Amino acid sequence: NNSDMAPINPEQLIRADIRALAAYHVADATGMVKLDAMENPYRLPAELRGELGALLAEAAINRYPDPRAPGLKAALRAAFAIPDGLDILLGNGSDEILQILAMAVARPGATVLSVEPSFVMYRMIAQFAGLDYVGVPLKPDFTLDEAALLAAIARHRPALVFIAYPNNPTGNVFDRAALERVIQAAPGLVVMDEAYHAFAGGLSFLEALDRYDNLILMRTVSKLGLAGLRLGYLVGKPAWLQEFDKLRLPYNVNVLTQVAAEFALRQVAVLEAQAAEIVAERGRLHAALMQQSGVTVFDSQANFLLLRVADAVKVFTGLKARGVLIKNLHGAHPLLDNCLRVTVGAPEENDAFLAALTAELEARG
Ligand code: PMP
Repeated sequence: NNSDMAPINPEQLIRADIRALAAYHVADATGMVKLDAMENPYRLPAELRGELGALLAEAAINRYPDPRAPGLKAALRAAFAIPDGLDILLGNGSDEILQILAMAVARPGATVLSVEPSFVMYRMIAQFAGLDYVGVPLKPDFTLDEAALLAAIARHRPALVFIAYPNNPTGNVFDRAALERVIQAAPGLVVMDEAYHAFAGGLSFLEALDRYDNLILMRTVSKLGLAGLRLGYLVGKPAWLQEFDKLRLPYNVNVLTQVAAEFALRQVAVLEAQAAEIVAERGRLHAALMQQSGVTVFDSQANFLLLRVADAVKVFTGLKARGVLIKNLHGAHPLLDNCLRVTVGAPEENDAFLAALTAELEARG
């Protein structure tokens, strides 16, 4: 009889490792210059927004979405020259794709491996799915420690290796030949996460999918100007994607996202022109930060820059008080001591950031 028993509580039911977690924190950016989340600062041009509005008005939101999403997949293929022999699997952001990949290989003793510092969701999703996680530190200059990586692969035999190319939060791309040796040495799948592809000057492993049976590519439209739609995708051989598709929730990419993303990708030249402006601004911001005493700035192939200052927490807090929100990485990983990450915004946002940073550093002496 249930009524005789004390009611169940979270401490009894929820896994201890989940209870010990902090929920993913998204800072409130109301009214601030928002340079914390690698978003494209530009919206679609007003004329295109008007066209999109008309399309969305026609969308059949009374119906479930078509899980095959043929129009959207065709638009992705055309926009990014994805060959016919490769399949596409869509996710509600690439975060959901990571979850699908982790679920697919989760069994006792299975391991996910990545480098550190890198995208924190690799570790988190491995943990959610009950997988072991191994993080192999980068070198202090954020290049790949190939020997350590190969040794860890030999030792842990990971089911999945996640590599962000370019890497978040460091912004660099790892050595291509070294990564090919990692793919060859890996006994499981290597997922090349090309979230920042639009800013990397064409660098990609797309052409390598032909050569390696254990390589798969992940991308997202988030950084390209469509973060609000939540759309990520896998590109790979059909034999792999057929299996992952079984774990995809049937209606994971909603009707409005399908319509809007297909429309925007049919105008990918507009998005790519915005990305080119961001790359130009990245160069300007990088040069300005090089001139700033008390700041070390790292090279980036992404839409953000990593910097190091004498006291990151104080600079972060000071910038926030001046209305500029960036990301504090101090404490996130030993290699990120006193590091901050700033997303490249529109010129006036970058100017606001530079002015606030200069004022803050001068105020601190
Ligand atoms: N991969 C990397 C390397 C990222 O930095 C991010 C976003 N921070 C993502 C994937 C997730 O992108 P989304 O879920 O928006 O597709």
